[in-house]
Amino acid sequence: MSDRPPEPDAAPPPLTPARLVGRALRLRCCVCGGGGIFHRWFTMEDNCPTCGFRFERIEGHWIGSLGLNTILTMGAGLIVVVGGYALMYPDPNLTVLIAVVVVLGVLGPLFLFPFTRTLWTAADLMMRPLDVDDGVDPDHIPARRPPPPRRR
Ligand SMILES: [Zn+2]
Repeated sequence: MSDRPPEPDAAPPPLTPARLVGRALRLRCCVCGGGGIFHRWFTMEDNCPTCGFRFERIEGHWIGSLGLNTILTMGAGLIVVVGGYALMYPDPNLTVLIAVVVVLGVLGPLFLFPFTRTLWTAADLMMRPLDVDDGVDPDHIPARRPPPPRRR
């Protein structure tokens, strides 16, 4: 996968799930791969400064990001509890396990905040492909994926 700028007059590459997730994990715009979408850790632009993509595609869009953040944090907490209990068995130190889970429960969502925003946007683009209402500059609208070959 390459995120090189496209050749002049060439349509940008199609938005495959791998490309969407890769861009999201690097905190880049899922549509064009452009950076600078976060001012600070918790402050995201409304639109991509490169392609104009409006990140909040529908009202309530960020509820999915919140849910994803909660799921990832709770999953990490579950892994810490089960893994820590297994490592300390047969004499688990519950004070240490609770302390680690509390610290994880507070810091995890703060750390994950921008990642879950971009990952949710990627997931949304997989479920609801780019639309004319998304405000994307026509020069940055990706090529459509070719249809799968016909079976005979
Ligand atoms: Zn963009």
